Amino acid sequence: MYDLLVIGAGSGGVRAARVAAGYGAKVAIAEEYRIGGTCVIRGCVPKKLLVYGAHFAEDLEDAARFGWRIENAQFEWTVLRDNVLAEVERLSGLYTQTLRNHNVEILRGRATFRSSTEVEIDGRIVRAKTILIATGARPHIPDRPGCEHGITSNEAFHLDALPRRIVIAGGGYIANEFAGIFNKLGSTVTVINRSDQILRGYDEQIRDRLLQISLTKGIRFLFNAPIDRVEKRPDGTLLVQLQNGESVECDTLMFATGRVPNTDGLGCERAGVEIDERGAVKVDDMNRTTCPSIYAVGDVTNRVQLTPVAIREAQAFADTVFGGKPTKVDYDCIPSAVFSHPPLAGVGLTESEARNRLGSIKIYTSDFRPMKHVLANRNERALYKLVVDNATGRVVGAHMIGPDAPEILQVVAIAVKAGLTKEQFDQTVAIHPTMAEELVLLK
Ligand code: NDP
Repeated sequence: MYDLLVIGAGSGGVRAARVAAGYGAKVAIAEEYRIGGTCVIRGCVPKKLLVYGAHFAEDLEDAARFGWRIENAQFEWTVLRDNVLAEVERLSGLYTQTLRNHNVEILRGRATFRSSTEVEIDGRIVRAKTILIATGARPHIPDRPGCEHGITSNEAFHLDALPRRIVIAGGGYIANEFAGIFNKLGSTVTVINRSDQILRGYDEQIRDRLLQISLTKGIRFLFNAPIDRVEKRPDGTLLVQLQNGESVECDTLMFATGRVPNTDGLGCERAGVEIDERGAVKVDDMNRTTCPSIYAVGDVTNRVQLTPVAIREAQAFADTVFGGKPTKVDYDCIPSAVFSHPPLAGVGLTESEARNRLGSIKIYTSDFRPMKHVLANRNERALYKLVVDNATGRVVGAHMIGPDAPEILQVVAIAVKAGLTKEQFDQTVAIHPTMAEELVLLK
């Protein structure tokens, strides 16, 4: 009998297992695939490495204006792909080692509930006093004829060759990040989205700027364009037929149409764990499911689908249940970023949210061409924006698009979370010349 059985060795599961074991619990973790989960194996980490790889295309172009002559620069997809996959392998090994160092037993296989304290893993029954569901989410694929011919981000990291023409369905994080990657690496990219906007939830002006820049880079966008069906031709090319009557031909179709919680086949009903209408495990603010001995964290609960949030939930769970320190996750002011080309990031209220919620607000923006772009003759402008509550003078939102925006925003997020005022931003001396100095110079 274990004190804790964790189902799923992703970011949330590994953190919970390690911390609970550190508190002295006897812990096992079940995983059917590799240790590390979406973020490490087929998400954030390999994606960011591809973004770095793709960005060299611009750096090499810009290099000429800085005096560098680089002739016959060539890109080999398989070199980048294999190096990224090797790095993923290394990180997965480190995660495995961490679990072993904490005496967490790794149980290989797919877990299904038998009861509220029993789980079957490949024919073997495992018992635990407490069980944590941390099975994450998987890509959603629209239920239309022929969609099985498409891939998802899971497969994008393993492609044999770069597609000459790729259609990406969706207009969210994954669609925009991969549109930037494939565009920079030389594919012809068409993004098709069911609605008329990209990146719902981000500040409108920042999204518009990304759309403009993406169009300038040659990425094509089709809006109000849900898929009707997909046909595979004998030569392997795909014809993506849209519900608006248009069609697009491509070599690869990639779905980035959201992610759904991994609860299918888990047998939650046998453990008294209720699932909501979207397939997510229902939890309260202490990560408790409807069964007293079972908890859930991360994407499987469909709260905020971000790795650092899953990790916080897992830490809070372990501190509460095994550390004697009841902890709730604070979901206020979660910063986030999209690693598009260029990247964008935001924290707090968008302009329209602030207008609706606070009424009287003031907006400060800086719309500028970064120094490096000026010398490179790159006509690409960055945009920084602060949303200020007139009543208190507090900065309630910060949004930006431009080189290194996620790196800069992480630091601004501390100030926004701390409730600092615009006046306090202004009291801070600029570091010159930087892009980030714009934030303390906004008039
Ligand atoms: P997103 O939720 O970001 O975007 C989904 C997109 O697909 C939206 O444009 C949406 O359209 C469209 N869509 C949703 N459902 C359907 C459907 N049934 N049929 C057709 N289109 C649909 O999801 P992603 O897949 O891009 O990413 C999943 C999650 O992973 C993100 O929400 C994010 O939390 C996380 N993630 C975070 C990253 C980061 O932090 N940088 C990177 C990658 C992923 P509509 O315009 O109508 O909303």
